Amino acid sequence: MTRPIHIISSLTGKKEQLVPIHPGEVRMYACGVTVYDLCHLGHAMQAVFFDVMRRYLEYAGYKVTYVRNYTDVDDKIINRAAETKISPRKLAQDMVVAADEDLLNVGVAPASHEPRVSQMIPEIIAMVQTLIDKKAAYVTPAGDVYYRVRAKADYGKLSKRNPDEMRSGTREVFQGEKEDSLDFALWKRDSVPEATWPSPWGQGRPGWHIECSAMSKKFLGVSFDIHGGGRDLIFPHHENEIAQSESANDAPFATIWVHTGLLTIDKQKMSKSLGNHLLIRDVLKIWPAEVLRLGFLEHHYSSAIDFSKQVFFNCHKRLLYYYETLEALDEIASKAPASEKETLLDGFTPESIVENFHRAMSDDFHTATAIADINRVFKKSRDLLVQKKSDAKAWTAKTIARSLREVGKVLTLFQEDPRTMLGTLKTTLLPELNITKEEIEQAMTERQTARKEKNFARSDEIRATLAKRGIELRDTPQGTVWTVLYQE
Ligand SMILES: [Zn+2]
Repeated sequence: MTRPIHIISSLTGKKEQLVPIHPGEVRMYACGVTVYDLCHLGHAMQAVFFDVMRRYLEYAGYKVTYVRNYTDVDDKIINRAAETKISPRKLAQDMVVAADEDLLNVGVAPASHEPRVSQMIPEIIAMVQTLIDKKAAYVTPAGDVYYRVRAKADYGKLSKRNPDEMRSGTREVFQGEKEDSLDFALWKRDSVPEATWPSPWGQGRPGWHIECSAMSKKFLGVSFDIHGGGRDLIFPHHENEIAQSESANDAPFATIWVHTGLLTIDKQKMSKSLGNHLLIRDVLKIWPAEVLRLGFLEHHYSSAIDFSKQVFFNCHKRLLYYYETLEALDEIASKAPASEKETLLDGFTPESIVENFHRAMSDDFHTATAIADINRVFKKSRDLLVQKKSDAKAWTAKTIARSLREVGKVLTLFQEDPRTMLGTLKTTLLPELNITKEEIEQAMTERQTARKEKNFARSDEIRATLAKRGIELRDTPQGTVWTVLYQE
């Protein structure tokens, strides 16, 4: 059984029901990384959103074939390789390995297929040849091949651009051998070693857009269900993918288009010159990956998302709250009786958490709503924790913890062992609070002594001083423990 899913498609601007071309199976393509440098936070964000969409589709009962490509042939790679004096192939290979590692560390599962341009040259050449044969492309005397935009009557349908207006908007400057200023390269004559290949039009390399048309066709077929990418790819990249594929295949390309929003850091576009260019591997040296994922997923995928130190800090503290609650729920659940016939407390039902999750996610993958719902479950769980001991309480705790972990699996949240995760979360926050574990432990010992001596004024004073520095002491039956203060 598969659940009905609705997605707002960038192509129509409307909410569409996902009706897979192959019943029960969703075929999905997302444009991946151009491997000339290490991956930054923007790459992580896009990869996390598409990973979660894929996980949700699977959770909703669909078989999913997901393709995410690596662009390993590109001007940027050739230029960077020349600067650093290594071969383009070696640079691209190293960056693919690094990207795989970074994305895995962020918690993104590998796609079903992760093709690279350099492995797709025969398929690309075949598609370019088909376009030439169909008069949708032409070869220039210099050996470049261009797509003929005038051959496609509905060119501009994704980006909602009118080709005539685009032509009149740009003064017809020298266009080389192009027939039309809008025509774009399918094949570029070039001879850079290790980055070019022989073709019927001479030594050269593919233009940027054709790779995605060739790859999606190879792994997903000429028509498939969902195509995604960053919003900045709508024009020209995605518009041109549609044009090439539909001209070559005489079939509609992707049914639904989804675009992720753009990421800013402190409200500014990420850039090396501003010093806010955050690499995944640098961020993960400070913050656990789950902090990042929560920071992305508490927004809808299409939103513009801004990150700042405060966002990291807030997400971190919220995870601390989630995992402390989970640990407490587990503790109560461990005493649950074997019978599952107990009525649950506080209006919970075994299905309520999961059903709410489906409602949010089947409506355009609304992770923001899903997380807001989950927040309410945690809040109600805190109320449950203080209730008096009963079998019903234990069963309710068990059901909540199990359901949170079930939906959390789709969101890639709450999958860690609470005790281990809490250790990590608490320790990583300390430098932010400008306090060390040793200082806290020393204060705790001092307080212990004061209490033994019945000097409660001193004991309270120590507790208050720590609280001012963001550390809370809790006296439990197992002794005093410390945690980082958070606002609920
Ligand atoms: Zn693409």
